Amino acid sequence: MIYLDNAATTIVSDAAVSAALEMMKENFFNPNATYKPGVNVKAYIESCRKDIAKYIGAEDKELFFTSCATESNNWVFSYGRKRPNGNVVISAGEHSSVYEPAMRLKNHGTDIRVAKLDKDGRVDIDHLLSLVDDNTSLVSVIHVSNETGAVNPIKDICSAVKRKAKNALFHSDGVQAALKTEPINALGVDYYSLSAHKIGAPKGIGLLYVNKKLNIAPMLVGGGQERGFRSGTQNTPYIAAFAAAVKDFVKTRDIERTNAIRSKLIEVFSSAGCKIVGKNNNSGYILCVCLDGAKAEIVQNAACDKGVIIGKGAACSGSKRGNRVLSAIGLSDTEVERCIRISFCNDTTMDDAVAASKIILECADSIRRGNV
Ligand code: PLP
Repeated sequence: MIYLDNAATTIVSDAAVSAALEMMKENFFNPNATYKPGVNVKAYIESCRKDIAKYIGAEDKELFFTSCATESNNWVFSYGRKRPNGNVVISAGEHSSVYEPAMRLKNHGTDIRVAKLDKDGRVDIDHLLSLVDDNTSLVSVIHVSNETGAVNPIKDICSAVKRKAKNALFHSDGVQAALKTEPINALGVDYYSLSAHKIGAPKGIGLLYVNKKLNIAPMLVGGGQERGFRSGTQNTPYIAAFAAAVKDFVKTRDIERTNAIRSKLIEVFSSAGCKIVGKNNNSGYILCVCLDGAKAEIVQNAACDKGVIIGKGAACSGSKRGNRVLSAIGLSDTEVERCIRISFCNDTTMDDAVAASKIILECADSIRRGNV
């Protein structure tokens, strides 16, 4: 099998599996217990937090473990605004775990403003800034698009927003960006969400970065874990796996090699008459291709039968019709239906990626000719 749907999820690294198993079998104690094995597990969680903080560019006290990035994003939209009456600005490129909480606020009367995207899938910064004013309480812009790999210049956007609206807080969904672009502390953001299953850890663990100058009210209250900010017994096996996966990811990361693989596939698909969605300044880890005359879903299944796994838009909204983000870039409904998403990880090889692209093109060709 050639697995090229790493933006949906990644294979769990061996180091992450071992770390989780150890916490399940040997160090299963409740980290909040006051006897020694419990205290040791708590200390271990804190060492994991420190390790993760070091690699993603944060201080350990700025990180709160959550069950997933969806929780982190919801937390910011539910409790992260200092002035709940202010307006909220998001980009049209947000993942549904930002977009839907924003729409829920809108249904409860909040003024939600949505900034347009350019043809490469990045937010139109001039339009976004025109929506920001003195009454803006929160701005949220995705760092790397899960649909196209478009990279938003978060540092510049965040500082421009703060110049225009001193009281606005800035959040970025960094799920597809973490460890693949700049560290968090280079961005100047107030909040940043992360999900571990995109970098070799299991599904069901994420974190929210909250700048140390800020306080966020907890969304989950109860036993007061995570220094009172996120109650619920800590998921110690997955926290251990998260830290192990981060170290592994950093060790195996080779951005130049990943960029070269993406560039090669752009060449292969372009010469076959396909349109590349978001060609410029994109993450090397994600490639969105609009196939020539074949529906993505049929190609996806045909390629899967031949051992090649690719995506078509966000996996978590796979059951929803259409694609809000691709439409916002200006693609027609027919083009949207033809878009596949190919996403890489550190272990993707050039040979596998090229072989997969040929199989995808063969499948698309058979479908176009009506042979599937
Ligand atoms: N944000 C982005 C950009 C994503 O790609 C995803 C997952 O696909 C999420 C948020 C949600 O992450 P999780 O599965 O941890 O809730």
